[in-house]
Amino acid sequence: MRPAVTPPSDRAAWLKGPAFECSVKPPAQQRPWRLVLLGPPGVGKGTQAQLLAAQFGACHLSTGDVFRTAKRMESCQATAAMSEALALMRAGKLVSDELVMAMVAERSGCLHCAGGFILDGFPRTLQQAIDFDKLLASENIVLDAVIDYELSLDATIARAAGRLTCPNCHAVYHTVSKPPQKSVGMCDQCGGKLKQRDDDRPEVACIRMRQYTAVTEPLTAYYQQRGVLVPISADASPEEVFADTCRALAARRA
Ligand code: AMP
Repeated sequence: MRPAVTPPSDRAAWLKGPAFECSVKPPAQQRPWRLVLLGPPGVGKGTQAQLLAAQFGACHLSTGDVFRTAKRMESCQATAAMSEALALMRAGKLVSDELVMAMVAERSGCLHCAGGFILDGFPRTLQQAIDFDKLLASENIVLDAVIDYELSLDATIARAAGRLTCPNCHAVYHTVSKPPQKSVGMCDQCGGKLKQRDDDRPEVACIRMRQYTAVTEPLTAYYQQRGVLVPISADASPEEVFADTCRALAARRA
């Protein structure tokens, strides 16, 4: 299943901060979806976030993409806190809850995006989830669902190893399941040269995986208790996983 494509926002306000305005604004939806995606690194959250964003006209809000954008900015523009965050990211470690929360809070305007939002990579710790609930309450926003993509450890590691991303527009590809269609090694959307992320190197990927199990996986119980958790098996093609996700979301609003 392919989404009914809505032109993606350039996410300028999210990626570069509240001083920037998005050039393409998602159309207002009658009932926008406000979603969080959970799942181990490499499970395909980024791909599903892109498909869901295109389907619902929502904005794809990835905290990892904010850090990767900061990495490409002039080093003189980076604050001390951001430089520290980037060093942690390169080592496959989590950035502090304080810094991540500050970054999300200063971008809280994006949570009011007329098309809704798909959060990918945040929250990632119990503290972030608790603080995010407070932020949502203060902004008068209700989370519609938290989608938990489930996959075995071996399959997750194999997926992360084949992942390629575009450093310009952050589109996500995979050497086997989603190779670029126009030209080998080039982004279909912007022509950028695709790369393996530093933190997808096997030695760093293992650290990230252990961290996910210890720190992020407990969030499923947290959101289950709140009645918003939607588990989806990620052991299928991106199109099938997307179709399953859309079916599960439609059932929640039926
Ligand atoms: P991702 O693209 O979501 O896998 O994020 C890449 C890296 O950015 C992570 O390995 C962390 O170093 C950092 N990062 C992104 N989001 C968060 C978060 N919510 N909490 C802590 N660190 C994060």
